[in-house]
Formats: sequence, C-alpha cells, structure tokens
Amino acid sequence: MPVDNAQIADRLQAFAALLELVDGNPYTVRAYRRAAETIRGAAFPVAELVAAGRARELRGVGPGIEARLRELVETGTIAELAELEREVAPDLVGLGRYLGLGAKRSVELARALGVRTADELREAAAAGRLQSVPGVGPKTEARLVEALSREAAPEPRRGLLLNRAWELVGGVAAALDGVPAGDVRRWRDSCERLAVVCSAGDPVVATQRFAELPQIVALVEQRERAAVGVTVEGVPVELVVAEPERFGTALVRATGSPQYVAALEPLPDAPDEEAVYRALDLPWCPPELREAPFRGEPPALVQPRDIRGDLHCHTTWSDGRASVEEMGRAARERGYDYLAICDHTPAVGAVRGLTPDDVRRQADEIAAANERLAPFRVLRGIECDILADGRLDLPDDVLGELEWVQASVHGGQRMPRADMTRRVEEALRNPAVRCLSHPKGRYINRRPENALDLERVFEVALEEGVALEVNGLPDRLDLRGEHVRDALRAGVPIVCSTDAHSVPGLANMTLSVATARRGWATSEAVVNTRPLDAILEPS
Ligand SMILES: [Zn+2]
Ligand SMILES: [Zn+2]
Repeated sequence: MPVDNAQIADRLQAFAALLELVDGNPYTVRAYRRAAETIRGAAFPVAELVAAGRARELRGVGPGIEARLRELVETGTIAELAELEREVAPDLVGLGRYLGLGAKRSVELARALGVRTADELREAAAAGRLQSVPGVGPKTEARLVEALSREAAPEPRRGLLLNRAWELVGGVAAALDGVPAGDVRRWRDSCERLAVVCSAGDPVVATQRFAELPQIVALVEQRERAAVGVTVEGVPVELVVAEPERFGTALVRATGSPQYVAALEPLPDAPDEEAVYRALDLPWCPPELREAPFRGEPPALVQPRDIRGDLHCHTTWSDGRASVEEMGRAARERGYDYLAICDHTPAVGAVRGLTPDDVRRQADEIAAANERLAPFRVLRGIECDILADGRLDLPDDVLGELEWVQASVHGGQRMPRADMTRRVEEALRNPAVRCLSHPKGRYINRRPENALDLERVFEVALEEGVALEVNGLPDRLDLRGEHVRDALRAGVPIVCSTDAHSVPGLANMTLSVATARRGWATSEAVVNTRPLDAILEPS
C-alpha cells in the first residue's frame, strides 16, 4: 500500500491529537506535530526514506517516531493509533469540539454517559441524560442541546489558516470529485466557511463517501442534498450535492460571500458558473472578487504565471533551511528569472542576523551560485530590521552594495500609532530601501496589526519609489486584500513575496498572488512581474 507524505502526516497528526487527550505529555505531542509538518513539507517520498532505514535524517524524527513511521509504512497502520481511536472515539472528540467543549471534556462526557458515537450522544441528549453528568448544569445542557440540533450552517470558532483550509477542503473535494468552494475558493486569509460542491443525480453515494472520509469523524447535519461533517479538531465542512443541471448555481451560491450572492439573487439554474453569469447578463467574476456586491467588468487580475521572480527568501545564513544555491536552483525550477536572498540582520534577535562582514562573505557565495545557475540570477538582498528610531540595522555603505533591500519591523511593535508611523517613514526615506516587508506585522489569530498609518506610508512610499510587500506566509498574508486595494488606489506598487525559509516555502507564491488578486491587483501593479533589468535599474 503506497503511503504518501500527506497520508503519513495526517496519521501522525491524528496520533498527536489523541495522545494529547490521553497522555498529556505536551513534549511528545508537540514532537509528533512537528514531525508531521516536516513530512508534509518534504519534497521527496518519505516512505522511501523510512523503508531505507533513514527516517532519522528528517528534522525532529527520533527513535520513537521512527518506529511508528516504520510500522506505518510496512503495515499501513499504527497499532497504538488504532487502539487509541477505539478507546477515545475521535468522532465524539470532533463533535465535542464543534459544540465548544474541549477534547478532554468531550471524552469525559462520553465516558460518563457511556456513549461511543456521535449518534449515541445525540440520543442521550434527547433523553435528557446530559444533566446526570457531574459538572453539566442546566445552562450547559441547554447550550449543548441547542448546538446539537442547530440547523444553520455552523462556523468554526476561529478561522482556519488558508493553507490548512486548502489542504482540508482540497482533500475532501478531490476524494469526492467535487470542487472546493466557500472561503477557500475566495482565498480568504482566515477561512470560516469550508465547503465542497459535488454534482450527482442521486446524492446518497456522495454523502455516504463524505461520511466515510478519514478527515471527517462525524456528521452533525444531514439533509437530502447537503451535509455538514466535522474533523477531529471540530472544524465543520459542508458538502453540497447539486443536481448536474444546477451545479453552476450551487457553486456560485457556495462560493460568494452572503452579501455578494444576495445581490445576484434570484440565480438562474445552470450546469456551470459561466452559464449562470451569462444568464444574468454579467461577465464571469473571479472568486477572489466575490466579497462585496459587484456586477461590473472585473479587471484582468495578476496570475501566478505572470510572476518572474521572488524577492524575499531566507537561507541557512539566517533562519532558513536551504543554502543560497539550493534556493536559487529551486526558484529556477519554478520558471523564475531571479530570486533575492534576504536574510535577517542582527537586531532581529531571536535568530541569527548578518553583520556587514557576513553580508560581504555571502556575496561570494551568491556569485558562485550565479556562475552555476546563469542566466538565472540570484540577487544580493537583505531583510534589514528597522530599529526603534527608524534607522536601519546596517550601515548605508553596506546597504548601497545590495541589489534588493527589504525593510522590516520585527521588535517593538506595540508602539503608538504616531511613533510607529514615524519609525517606518524614516526607514522608507533611506534611498537603499526598495520594499517594506509585512507592513502591518500581524500574525493571523495570534497578533493584531501594528498601529501603522497606512495612508501616510502610501504617501511616503510613492515619493520614495518604495513598494509594499504582500507577504505569502500563511499566517501573515500581509498586506491583506483590502489594504492591497488601498495601496493600489494610492498608486503604490506591490511585491508578491513568499518570505520562504525553505524550498517548499517558495510554493507560497500562490497565497501571495491570491491575496494580491483579492486587492484587485493587475500584473502591472506587481513589481516582480517585471524583467530582471527593471528590478536592477528602477525607473
Ligand atoms: Zn520579516
Ligand atoms: Zn523574511
């Protein structure tokens, strides 16, 4: 049985989730999660490495994880995981999380009631037995009963990052020959509505297959042509099974924001989206623009294939995992003409940063890589920290040698608006600076945006010929779509970058470009759709 990287990663992640419930050793749990991430991002078949007895070469794989990997690759299963799944009932955990209970609480509840499946839990609730459980009062009971019988489409308690949402929804869609819809199809930075639309005359088979997918641990809702399943994390995924002659209509409805769809209603029945829009006498609209009501002619949005190079990535010189040449070679294989190496400077603190001396030694390595990769071009760049007073973290003469300078705020982000804006403005005035990295400094779900006055930043950027980055790291996506649109209206160009810290990280260009598209960017607005000459000699 072939076990691909995603399947291995899924099993390890499931193992981690269940271990978390029973074992409680956070280090073990974290180790399995980290190993799963590594395997998911690996560019080669991990099963082969495991079969060759070389699993320990993977980052974060010790003897314990190696033994499980070998068992999984050789037998197709992990016995202890199967045992845990029997004991802990992931469907109850998924349902419990969906209902707003912690995983441990879900298991306690299930044990106290003696129920083994989600359906039995429903029956117990309907029979009024919830109140017999220690710690469940009338209020909690009412909330659970209400949630268990909820009709409306549910939302996860916090949005899923776009890369995880695509993985989940893309996997479900592929398994059912369906199409990803909902927030992922609009490439929202944090996805709440996760939906898949399938086409079938008879909905029974598709719904059955959906319920049996490894990603879906329980169905929380089932109607004739729609169902909602939950993952072990309690994340709801919606399935719509449309009749073939209405598939386009269902897809339009499942894709757009509620406001966008409402403004198009009543929607005509049609087998595909193009036919829906034709019948409405409207041009087809790219999903990224289906947020606010819009009936006009959409612009020709930038596309991934327009991108000619990546202008922000890291190497082993700072906190990246690959060498200059490995990153350059990978960028060349993606069809790019250039790649700017932008490692950190010392003020970044948490990781190694390049001193002036390092910058010059790195130049030799870049020159050597260029000899081997020509005509592809590795650019000498830097991600230079903006110090608290707005000065840059390298002397001007060093910055002046470089071909691409990104300026970044990393520390001291809690500054008041006026100070933060002055700090960034000062940095943008430095003639070496070409681009402001992750301008708002947010981490999705973890850290709010900096109090930076973007309108003022746009003015200064325009005066100084500086571009603003659309950072493609899945937990950044910064600028976000709305701000991209503001920047473009102000006349400021953007750069679509990955901020890759590894070879697989270069694939995040898709996320950056999609975010730019959400901001209505055309290819003219994106600096790195331009040829190398234009990057080296800005007009
Ligand atoms: Zn950064
Ligand atoms: Zn970076």
